[in-house]
Amino acid sequence: MCLFCDIIEGKIPSNKVYEDENVLCFRDINPVAPTHVLVVPKKHFDNIIDISAKDDGAKYLDACAKAIATVAKAEGLGTGFRVINNCGEDGGQTVNHLHFHLIGGLKLTEKII
Ligand code: 5GP
Ligand code: ZN
Repeated sequence: MCLFCDIIEGKIPSNKVYEDENVLCFRDINPVAPTHVLVVPKKHFDNIIDISAKDDGAKYLDACAKAIATVAKAEGLGTGFRVINNCGEDGGQTVNHLHFHLIGGLKLTEKII
C-alpha cells in the first residue's frame, strides 16, 4: 500500500494543480508556504536512488522537471522558489513514493536548513 499511489489512482482525494501522462502535482496537506505543491511521478519509485537505477527513470524525472517549471509559472513564482527532495529516514522522507516539494510565494533564506 502506498499513499501517493492511492492519490494517483483517485482512491484518496487531492487538490490537483497539474497532471499529464507521467506526473501528478497536488497541494501538500500541511503546507509550509503559500505555494507548497508535491510533484509526483505517476509510476511508483521509492526514492531518488530507486528512480536513478530504473530504465524508465529518466523519462519520469524529465516529466517532474517540466511539471515543476509549469506549476512554478502558474503559481506566479517567477522571482524564485525552492525544490526539495527528502530521501530516506535520515533525509526526513515520510512517504516512500518519490516526490519533490515545490515551495514558494515567500522570500526564502539562503540557508537550506
Ligand atoms: P516527505 O516528508 O516524505 O518528504 O513529504 C511527505 C509530504 O506529504 C508531507 O509534506 C505531508 O504533509 C504530505 N502528505 C502526507 N499525507 C498527505 C495526504 O494525504 N495528502 C496530501 N496532499 N499531502 C500529504
Ligand atoms: Zn507509490
